[in-house]
Amino acid sequence: MLGKTHGAAGVLSGLLLANYVFKDIHIVQTIGIVAVTTAGSLFPDIDHGNSTLTNRFPQISHYFSRYLTSCTVGFGDAKYTQSLISHRGYAHSIFMLISLFIYLLPVLFFGLDYFLIWVFLSVGIISHLLLDVVTIDGIRLFAPFSNKKFSLTYIRTGGIEEIIIRLLIITGIIYVIYKIFVGAIY
Ligand SMILES: [Zn+2]
Repeated sequence: MLGKTHGAAGVLSGLLLANYVFKDIHIVQTIGIVAVTTAGSLFPDIDHGNSTLTNRFPQISHYFSRYLTSCTVGFGDAKYTQSLISHRGYAHSIFMLISLFIYLLPVLFFGLDYFLIWVFLSVGIISHLLLDVVTIDGIRLFAPFSNKKFSLTYIRTGGIEEIIIRLLIITGIIYVIYKIFVGAIY
């Protein structure tokens, strides 16, 4: 799906976490959680040359693609590894969540809560995987161990169905923000 749909899902995921899981937290903490889940929701499309993330941070995307290439060496022939580093490959795999647990270790040096940041990022990434797995293009959910693509429906990226999904997500965002600022509604 498109970056704006993923970003909206990241915002909604963060708001839901802040409002229903952690509860009674300060607005600044809520903004922090939403920022990290939104970053996670955009992260998997780092494997795409023309995504919201890569357009803004082309250098990061460049290095990440080289990193992905090195990760997939030894998992199969050139054709197989190419499929893993292509769009909706390893960066869209559930194993990326485990890898992230290791990549985030430097966060410890900044005195930040390593585990919570990983949880928030993972929630954002999972929202991305859920949205992409319902598209006709699917995702390689178990890369690098398998390059089989999983696709649950025939929804096309950028189609009318995606617009409806995005509107539903935005409605959810408005609902949760209303709950946070106005109080309990039924
Ligand atoms: Zn994607």
